[in-house]
Amino acid sequence: MADGAGIDAVSVYSVPLRTRFRGIDVRDGVLVRGPAGWGEFSPFWDYDVAESRRWWAAAREAALEGWPPPVRATVPVNVTVPAVGPERAHAIVAASGCRTAKVKVAEPGQAAAEDLARVEAVRAALGPAGAVRIDANAAWDVDTAVARLRELDAAAGGLEYAEQPCATLPELAALRRRLDVRIAVDEGVRRSADPLRVDLRAAADVVVLKVQPLGGVRAALRVAEAHGLPCVVSSALESSVGIAAGVALAAALPDLPFACGLATVALFTGDVTADPLLPVAGELPVRAVVPDRLAELAAPADVDARWRARLAEVAAA
Ligand SMILES: [Mg+2]
Repeated sequence: MADGAGIDAVSVYSVPLRTRFRGIDVRDGVLVRGPAGWGEFSPFWDYDVAESRRWWAAAREAALEGWPPPVRATVPVNVTVPAVGPERAHAIVAASGCRTAKVKVAEPGQAAAEDLARVEAVRAALGPAGAVRIDANAAWDVDTAVARLRELDAAAGGLEYAEQPCATLPELAALRRRLDVRIAVDEGVRRSADPLRVDLRAAADVVVLKVQPLGGVRAALRVAEAHGLPCVVSSALESSVGIAAGVALAAALPDLPFACGLATVALFTGDVTADPLLPVAGELPVRAVVPDRLAELAAPADVDARWRARLAEVAAA
């Protein structure tokens, strides 16, 4: 097996999503088993070999080393609301049992009014005590972000924070000077050449940590420590195997002031385990995941071959 050293099983999974998300309809990836358990390697297909190396480091850590000890037994999570209509958004939130919702906005091809209707529906479903955050995935320039976030903040009855409304850190810094909404940085950390040394002080109130893009739980803990800002752990839309690594990170952080974006298995039509990491009363348990449904979720031969070739290339880089 590529990269050797203790990995004794490699499986490729493929699962359709309930709703198109991040431009994809089917999620696929590689699961690897080692002496410490199972790890997931599932960089999105628009990531090149160099950027995918951190994702492989995260899978190796899970399989070969395991994770640092947890300081909490459960992790509060948000429900993730894709760019769906208001009725569907309301139903997703109501069914989730979560007290925090992250709403995708600025979907290509959709109007600002659709975002407002979705956010209003989410607030109605959560009630006044819930928290509403939005994620714009770097879609706006500063002026657009100021205008949209003012409207969304009003529609939400107060946003908990806005995740990556603009692409660059200077834009986020400019936005923060003009707006009284907390800004969370996601792409600005995980896609930077050096997540440890990128200067977030002017640009962010909250740092989004993702295990695979940052190179593992320990690497993400170092990023958290380097920035000294409140952190939220989010998934990279993994199966429950990858989600378990996110839960391990959230469980190991000294402080966890916000709910984490780790309830995304709910966006899948199935999972690699019969016991998926889905929230109960807005929390996920801290536990290992064993993929016992790999046969049912096995990727078609062409997808399987494509992933094995990719893993070999990344592991050799
Ligand atoms: Mg994000």
